[in-house]
Amino acid sequence: MRIEIVQLYPAEMNIYGDHGNAQVLRARAELYGIEVVTRSYEVGCDASMLEGADLLLGGGGQDAGQAGVADDLGRVAACLRERAEAGVPMLMVCGMYQLFGRWFKTVEGAELGGIGVFDATTTGGTSRLIGNAVVDTDWGRLVGYENHSGLTSLGAGQAGFGRVVQGAGNNGRDGVEGARAGNVIGTYLHGPLLPKNPRLADALLRVAVARGSSGRSNVQLTSLDDDAPVLAPRDDAAAGVLARWDDLAARAGAAAAARPR
Ligand code: GLN
Repeated sequence: MRIEIVQLYPAEMNIYGDHGNAQVLRARAELYGIEVVTRSYEVGCDASMLEGADLLLGGGGQDAGQAGVADDLGRVAACLRERAEAGVPMLMVCGMYQLFGRWFKTVEGAELGGIGVFDATTTGGTSRLIGNAVVDTDWGRLVGYENHSGLTSLGAGQAGFGRVVQGAGNNGRDGVEGARAGNVIGTYLHGPLLPKNPRLADALLRVAVARGSSGRSNVQLTSLDDDAPVLAPRDDAAAGVLARWDDLAARAGAAAAARPR
């Protein structure tokens, strides 16, 4: 089994260690005996790289970085929307989450067009929402680290990713964190998110593997997905490494949840 993970615009959109999401997916997949190819999609790359992806990742960035990728993102928007509708799992963090919404208006008043995978709009503010965050989701209680000035509002029918337990989430007002459209997750949680929350990493991998191995597009990213294969460590040594990482993640999560913002 082999899967391709494509990271969107890592040159511009990769702050607070978001590339760690790709690294942990790769490392965990290999312990499950899955071969992983990781690719970087940068401005000007061929859209065929996106068509071949089994899993797509995007990270955070400065407003300027977002401005630098927005036009190119518009160029490949139809392809990304089509892949999202086809059920390809995607995790978009912070700046890329904002650009997967309808638009992001910066604090200077520039309007960056998004690709509308989420019915979400974001307006830049004058203060930043910074600190550890705890969010209840379909994958249990997750921890992460947020740092954004953009305030995001979801449309009436748009599902969030989770409920804020600690932190600001989308806007510090409505208790909603992130957005979810099928197998696509948008979130403000850095950390990086997946090393701190291995259950979510494995959920994304399971969907990527299930789609890749069966050619089926109807595999849903749910916490209890009967369709998706359970990932099994490739041997005892791999099981030991995974158990140690899960323990480290649990301890890091507990520390983050206990720490004042
Ligand atoms: N520039 C955006 C904001 O501050 C995104 C920040 C980020 O990706 N961390 O809202």
